[in-house]
Amino acid sequence: MKFLLAAFLCSALFFTGSSPTVGSDASASSASTPTIFGFRDASAEQATESRFLAVPDSKLAEEHLRILTKVPHMAGTIEDKATADYVAQKFRDAGLDTEIVEYKVWMNYPEEISVDLIAPAGVEMHGPTREHVDHDPFQDDPRVVMPFNGMSPSGDVEGDVVYANYGTPEDFEKLDKLKIDVRGKIVLVRYGQNFRGVKVFVAQERGAAGVIIYSDPADDGWRRGDKYPDGPWRPDTAVQRGSVGYMFEFPGDPTTPGVASAPSLPASQRISPQQSAQMPRIPVTPLSYHDAWPVLQHLGGPDSPREWQGALPFTYHVGPGPAKLKMHLKQDYEFHTLWDVIGRVRGRELPDEWVVAGNHRDAWVYGAVDPNSGTAAMLEAAHGVGDLLKTGWKPKRTLIFASWDGEEEGLMGSTEWVEQHESELSNAAAYFNMDVGVSGSKFSASAVPSLKQFLRDVTKIVPSPKGGTVYEAWQKAAQPDAVSAQSPSEAIGEGRRLPAAPGKGDVPVGDLGSGSDYTAFLQHLGVPSSDVSSTGPYGVYHSVFDNFAWFKKFGDPEFVYEQQMARVFGLESVRMADADVLPYDYEEYGKEIAAYLDAAGKRAEDKFGKHVLDFGAVNAAAHHFETAGVKILAKQRNPPQDAARLNQALRGAERALLAPEGLPHRPWFRHVIYAPGEYTGYAAVVIPGVNEALDKGDSERARQQLAALAAALEHAAKTLDGYR
Ligand SMILES: [Zn+2]
Repeated sequence: MKFLLAAFLCSALFFTGSSPTVGSDASASSASTPTIFGFRDASAEQATESRFLAVPDSKLAEEHLRILTKVPHMAGTIEDKATADYVAQKFRDAGLDTEIVEYKVWMNYPEEISVDLIAPAGVEMHGPTREHVDHDPFQDDPRVVMPFNGMSPSGDVEGDVVYANYGTPEDFEKLDKLKIDVRGKIVLVRYGQNFRGVKVFVAQERGAAGVIIYSDPADDGWRRGDKYPDGPWRPDTAVQRGSVGYMFEFPGDPTTPGVASAPSLPASQRISPQQSAQMPRIPVTPLSYHDAWPVLQHLGGPDSPREWQGALPFTYHVGPGPAKLKMHLKQDYEFHTLWDVIGRVRGRELPDEWVVAGNHRDAWVYGAVDPNSGTAAMLEAAHGVGDLLKTGWKPKRTLIFASWDGEEEGLMGSTEWVEQHESELSNAAAYFNMDVGVSGSKFSASAVPSLKQFLRDVTKIVPSPKGGTVYEAWQKAAQPDAVSAQSPSEAIGEGRRLPAAPGKGDVPVGDLGSGSDYTAFLQHLGVPSSDVSSTGPYGVYHSVFDNFAWFKKFGDPEFVYEQQMARVFGLESVRMADADVLPYDYEEYGKEIAAYLDAAGKRAEDKFGKHVLDFGAVNAAAHHFETAGVKILAKQRNPPQDAARLNQALRGAERALLAPEGLPHRPWFRHVIYAPGEYTGYAAVVIPGVNEALDKGDSERARQQLAALAAALEHAAKTLDGYR
């Protein structure tokens, strides 16, 4: 604890101009010989970092956010292009070598969307969905897109309604037990607990005719607290837009898996959208709880299981009927142009080793929180890098800031760029993501295990607006009493956050599933990745009310968390770009994998009985990987003069965790430790090949996947051992 206090006092000095001490490695010694893990001599880096940390400015972040969110700017619109030009200008002002890169991708805008109750007679819907509250200055702009789900097909369907809770596989199994058949029905599900595309995928597998997804007040509305504009939670008429594309098959342009959608790519090299595994086959559209109310209220059939009850004031029944709906969806599908903004600083020693830091810029409507709170923070991080450049500093590695487009439709801008630069990125040192930068005051992070300690170290020298360091505030919030005060459905309000796994008894850093732009970097190419944000009560996700007025009142009124996130994000980038030795921790990685295997072994026993599956080889490989991690960590702590071979081994180890043939049925996903679950979506499935075979009760496939995993772990261990 003493050490942490010392670290904070030092970071406080950054702002007085005296020379600070960066104590970041837990094994660091005295203040006179500063150490930063990954640096032979930390004093130059320390000076660079303190100069950087003094730059990000809360007033400027506010200015960026105000300008970026003045009007709705959905991907592919001229307003989206205007935000690209703004970001490009700021990158150029900072001295970054900047280009706007275009892609052409298949996606939809809504043309006509209606949902009508056609039975029982005399019951009316509350009318066409329009999001409205008293006194919101942004809601009436004609450019606000009507609520819809990206990647839903057009379609006209009619049918009795069945209520299926969150639409998880377990929820549908409960309907089976109640003898409720969803074939030909319109399935009504609520948002939350899993990725919306998973709800549709499962309903489609079971023969549903259509899906309606609504926001229940229990999950992010008045049950959680006062609703907007009195509080931060979802008002009655607010609708969550969002893509229902099957991104767990592959993300990016649905017509070009594995290939970049350059504007010049001929149609003959694209697959037809009708053939794309990413496209749902049944129509889907979202509703507010205001509009879902009369539908739910007129369902008969059995009472729903008690835990399916939401917060509307009547007992929820499962149906089918007598409520009957008619859905009319006319989507305008076309190839649209997207604009990624890429700003780079060429590395002075290792220009071919890239460090990439990115945030998406496109929003469903105004996107004050999601994603432009992240954009504003990224621009202040770029501002800080720009000031360093003016002092003559150049990063050792090439540093790239990226403003992605088309994330909301299906991680399009980042995926296409990654596919275009696959060969250059085989040398990348890291990808740092920030999607939502700020929705409140609670710091949260996810990363591959090799970067978890790096993240803890970085946050130890960034001051928190609460006092102390970000690390200390993070630690405090992670105390058991603080965790239990957090509702399990907080993840819904935040949209994309994942449950955090405990690390070495330290602050919890979560695992990366999917749902933001790190997906292609990590899961397609094996680039070590992280995702950071500052979170809080946030019920207006993907609605018109995620706007500057909400943000100023509830998100970060003083923009001090914006400043904090700019510092964290920028420091990750600067430190990684400058490191002599890549600051990865493969010991922690090995320990986590051992824990995943332990859990999978127990599941296998439950499923198939003892000794049916042999975990011997894979456990030995995991042990080998962990031991190799411990050995190389000792060398990283005492770096040689020429670290090229050491760094090559370190980078190679994460790449060795890719299976060339990919996961069963979804070859685009190649990482054998992390993937989005086919039935969980955002949330990570760890050692996915094995765990998904166990889910299916397929012992033969589990055996093959254990062998593939053991081979990858051995390969990674040998890659680390190869450095002597
Ligand atoms: Zn986002």
